[in-house]
Amino acid sequence: MSKKTVDYQILYQLTNDITPIHGDCGRLCGEICCRDNEDNLGVYLFPGEEGMFTGKENWLQFELRHPAEDDFPPSWEYPVYFVHCTGFCFRERRPLNCRFFPLTPHLLKDNTLLLIHETLELPYLCPLITKRTQLRKDFIAVTARCWLALLRDRRIRDLVEMDSREREKEGLRPHIVWSSRK
Ligand code: SF4
Ligand code: SF4
Repeated sequence: MSKKTVDYQILYQLTNDITPIHGDCGRLCGEICCRDNEDNLGVYLFPGEEGMFTGKENWLQFELRHPAEDDFPPSWEYPVYFVHCTGFCFRERRPLNCRFFPLTPHLLKDNTLLLIHETLELPYLCPLITKRTQLRKDFIAVTARCWLALLRDRRIRDLVEMDSREREKEGLRPHIVWSSRK
């Protein structure tokens, strides 16, 4: 598997206009996942995704993190980019991890890809998760397509496999939204 198989331009184009539900889900919660808050929340960029930014965006702060310190698999090299926003972004510039929320990937040991509700402990509750709101079919389909592309990068696959085994060890039983198994 190559390190350079992800075309972020294409993934950004694919996800520019998709939303988890019809309408603005931020109205359900006061855009709680986008607030600039004391927890200094942010998202990690995927390897190479930093090329989608100039580094001078006045709505983003870039932190260069050491992969071992942030529990990334050994295949990840320094730096891993962690970005904090000011609670505002240009929709077509938002990082991929913002676009996928509230879905996250889970890889079964037989390589079946699942899309599940995010299981990370967050300092807020997303009503789409707590109420198990039916998500748009196109949102799910595009998110799945993006993850199938991202998983071609060994580093990203390593991370998803690691997170999946961790979830299984913790005995979490996440809500499954989509499966690659026919
Ligand atoms: S917390 Fe959930 S419902 Fe609220 S804006 Fe974020 S994704 Fe939408
Ligand atoms: S970058 Fe945009 S979508 Fe992501 S948390 Fe910030 S305001 Fe929300």
